Amino acid sequence: MVGGLPRAAYIFMPCFHCENPWCVAACPTGAMQQRTSDGIVFVDHNLCVGCKTCISACPWGAPQWSPEIGKVVKCDYCMDRVDQGLEPACVTTCTTTV
Ligand code: SF4
Ligand code: SF4
Repeated sequence: MVGGLPRAAYIFMPCFHCENPWCVAACPTGAMQQRTSDGIVFVDHNLCVGCKTCISACPWGAPQWSPEIGKVVKCDYCMDRVDQGLEPACVTTCTTTV
């Protein structure tokens, strides 16, 4: 309790874009990839067959199942924005950014 109110806490566990990503090593189709230029880890949905192996491989629970598309989705560090010289969307909206 904080000030008479229940204390709510959670841990935000995004993709860490690991240096040696377990998800990339586990993916059987090459859909989970890491860019050599900057290390961003992303899913190529043209190659993803929805086997969910990457979900089991990631220690952080970053890859998520999307029932709408029948494939895995995850943070791609807003690489489309990064390629335009922009910051990821989360960086632009973070309330504690200094
Ligand atoms: S999905 Fe998990 S294993 Fe893959 S790069 Fe992100 S944090 Fe690392
Ligand atoms: S769900 Fe897609 S990205 Fe994940 S391991 Fe299977 S093919 Fe690779």
